[in-house]
Amino acid sequence: STQEWQQLDAAHHLHPFSDMGSLNKVGSRVITRAEGVYLWDSDGNKIIDGMAGLWCVNVGYGRKELAEVAYKQMLELPYYNTFFKTTHPPVIELSKLLSEVTPGGFEHFFYCNSGSEGNDTVLRIVHQYWAAVGQPKKRYIISRKNGYHGSTIAGASLGGMDYMHEQMPSQVSNIVHISQPYWFGDGGDLSPAEFGLKCARELEAKILELGAENVGAFIGEPFQGAGGVIFPPESYWPEIQRICRQYDVLLCADEVIGGFGRTGEWFAHQHFGFEPDTMTLAKGLTSGYIPMGAVAIRKKVADALIAGGDFNHGLTYSGHPVAAAVAVANIKILREGGVIERVKNETGPYFQKALREALAASPLVGEIAGAGLVAGMQLTEDKASRKRFANGGEIGLKCRDYCFKNNLIMRATGDRMLLSPPLVINKHEIDEVVEKAAHCIGLTARDLGM
Ligand code: PLP
Repeated sequence: STQEWQQLDAAHHLHPFSDMGSLNKVGSRVITRAEGVYLWDSDGNKIIDGMAGLWCVNVGYGRKELAEVAYKQMLELPYYNTFFKTTHPPVIELSKLLSEVTPGGFEHFFYCNSGSEGNDTVLRIVHQYWAAVGQPKKRYIISRKNGYHGSTIAGASLGGMDYMHEQMPSQVSNIVHISQPYWFGDGGDLSPAEFGLKCARELEAKILELGAENVGAFIGEPFQGAGGVIFPPESYWPEIQRICRQYDVLLCADEVIGGFGRTGEWFAHQHFGFEPDTMTLAKGLTSGYIPMGAVAIRKKVADALIAGGDFNHGLTYSGHPVAAAVAVANIKILREGGVIERVKNETGPYFQKALREALAASPLVGEIAGAGLVAGMQLTEDKASRKRFANGGEIGLKCRDYCFKNNLIMRATGDRMLLSPPLVINKHEIDEVVEKAAHCIGLTARDLGM
């Protein structure tokens, strides 16, 4: 029974990113199956998944072809490593396919099991690259406050989440953070364009402070996902790219959320108009059916690594054949099924418009940011002055709990409500997500007397 599951779960399972004390009082919801954009819990409730799991189930649940590919591959070659001059067909096929779907200039791919490991790998690549080209002093990495780059020690050091740093005295050194480009919250009287330039120029100031000869890379999510779906002003990324090029600093895009179609482009940096030197990939790479991460490496960086001798980095499961086979099948669904074009031309614009129309009159929603099938909605005390609530996070959690009760998965980051449904969601299902989200935001506003 649900109660037995919950008791066993509370007795033996330490959940990630959860306050176990309060979780155990209410009991975790037990998710037992899924199909398309829907989940079912152990009490038989049907829940619409507005978050694609954790921003990852891009092709939706219940794809038999992915299960079949995994089954076949397990029978044929369940495992072999790619260390020491061995390889296998699935990883070869995946690398070729990735070189086709990534924008020009990416020909080499390194594999791991997660986004966090991907960003650890980026650090290794950056250091090895600068050593290979004779500039080993370029050790500083610049990242951003409120960015999220994973939960390994390096991932969390790169990330700009204070609460994670506080629990982790042993951070990776030589990582420094600059401001996030969050106009609605921090832009004051500046226009979005002015604020975007101001934030980008913080990078330039930091490079000059540290000395360009000491700075190896800047890393950022094209839009900050876990930080609240923060979409930077249009002026931001082109200026960041100019600065990176001017001071010979590698530009590393963390595409773990944005990659594989989320904004309606294959990769989110294409939406924002810049060209990174590395791309961290995970989540949508396999649509979450099996763990896999990767780093796409621009040719000039890969060439230097290859010329530089041994790349002393690798994981037992780098390029795991079953994960690679699933990734190939998943990318083929995205490509041959026209999934990403549909997000760009149909479902993405429909979702963005429907959300804005449904929430235009809400006194609680101050900003809606997003493109394609991702959105962040800022709950505010006063829309006109962009004033946020003093007790940041409480209102968001209240709204999230209403959604949970109403069988919609919508995430809260502080007082920002986040949506990122599977990319195969249809218009009828989008209507359901939007209606439920608006209803729950309405209930939250009512509780606040708005
Ligand atoms: N980078 C970004 C932008 C992410 O959103 C995440 C996870 O949400 C990660 C890295 C870490 O990925 P993983 O949880 O697979 O380690």
